[in-house]
Amino acid sequence: MSSSGAASVPFCELCEAARLTTWYAEDEVCWVADCEACAVPMVVWRRHGVDPPAGDLAHMLGLLAQVADRVLGEGSWSVDRVMRQVPDHFHAHARDPHWWLRRLEGGR
Ligand SMILES: [Zn+2]
Ligand SMILES: [Zn+2]
Repeated sequence: MSSSGAASVPFCELCEAARLTTWYAEDEVCWVADCEACAVPMVVWRRHGVDPPAGDLAHMLGLLAQVADRVLGEGSWSVDRVMRQVPDHFHAHARDPHWWLRRLEGGR
């Protein structure tokens, strides 16, 4: 449970928050944008870490739900909290059942 070591992270693409894709929402806690790799909405915590407080977590999942309901359709998606790309910075995807199909079809 060490909270030190943040300074030892040389580069984190989520901290950088480059606006390469569509951004849907942002506030002081997090931002929601299309994942560059998956082309589905994802929420990213503004702080570098994997353990957001319960309040922040609820806020982030709520914001992601708002965006995903609008973009993917209500009830057609589920939260994927597996952090494959950046395992040490909290983020969560909203995946619909066809996200990989859209990815194959391309579009960008
Ligand atoms: Zn980070
Ligand atoms: Zn992704």
